Amino acid sequence: MNLIARKAEGRRQAVGIDVGGTNLRAALIDEDGRISTPIYERVITDRQGFAQRIETIVGLLDQSSSGPVGIGLPGRVDVQRNRAVSAGYLDIAELPIPELLGGEMGRVVRLDNDAAMALRAEMAIGAAQGFSNVVLLTIGTGIGGACAMGGKPVQGHSFAGQLGHITVHATGGALCKCGRYGCVETTSSGSALGRLVREAGLPEGMRAAELLQRGRAGDALALTVLRQWAGPLRCAIETLIAAIDPDLIVLGGGLGAEAFAALDYAPFNSEWFQRPIRAAILGDDAGMIGAGLCALAFAATQVGEAAAC
Ligand SMILES: [Zn+2]
Repeated sequence: MNLIARKAEGRRQAVGIDVGGTNLRAALIDEDGRISTPIYERVITDRQGFAQRIETIVGLLDQSSSGPVGIGLPGRVDVQRNRAVSAGYLDIAELPIPELLGGEMGRVVRLDNDAAMALRAEMAIGAAQGFSNVVLLTIGTGIGGACAMGGKPVQGHSFAGQLGHITVHATGGALCKCGRYGCVETTSSGSALGRLVREAGLPEGMRAAELLQRGRAGDALALTVLRQWAGPLRCAIETLIAAIDPDLIVLGGGLGAEAFAALDYAPFNSEWFQRPIRAAILGDDAGMIGAGLCALAFAATQVGEAAAC
């Protein structure tokens, strides 16, 4: 059954794709964020292979060849130009993905940062449902983020939401890949936790869940590492609250739930900057769901404009 047939049944669907540094997730997403025919696989990092695989996946999921497509990408995405500007290990900067997928033939293809896509999903059907002003921090290998104000993602000039690059050590911090020192990504990401575990002399590769378990049992070394990991994150969250005062902060990404739990060991520093914090609930599917919802919302806008003409 193709998308046109599905539309005839009254359910609109879009292809939603979430491209991570390692894994790719794709599926058909309906207006309620429901997933069908998911595809989970390793991402192809070379430019030509990536382009070919995306075309193939979209063709497999949408046999109508005209349904909307949303793609969340790591790194910086210029949503005005609909282009990836930098995407970590993926060699896809300036790759004309919308054109490759038929964008010039009128197909809706929307690109955005993966965290911005995940935020859309959490606001629609996840932890931030019912909230208008939301900050999402994605805690994984690095730290990403996205903000929504008045129910809409904040895009700024091009790259709003680079929340991993909030400075938490003005002097003396570690060098970040952005070129500055002391960004929260260098202190509170998954990579940072691995370093803290090593430096503390704990077993190499000890996971956050085990640290939390040891912390709950009163293990002093684990508690020290948890405070070192979560303290700067608490500081970054307070800075975000000071800057934009969201209704809610959501912690997502592969370590979102663990970072949320670790904040118990890093109490707030100021009464001024407190807002509710929650762990994301959609897990690894959030980016894919949000990408589909983004494409559906954009397609609906275009239909509205055409009708207005
Ligand atoms: Zn940085």
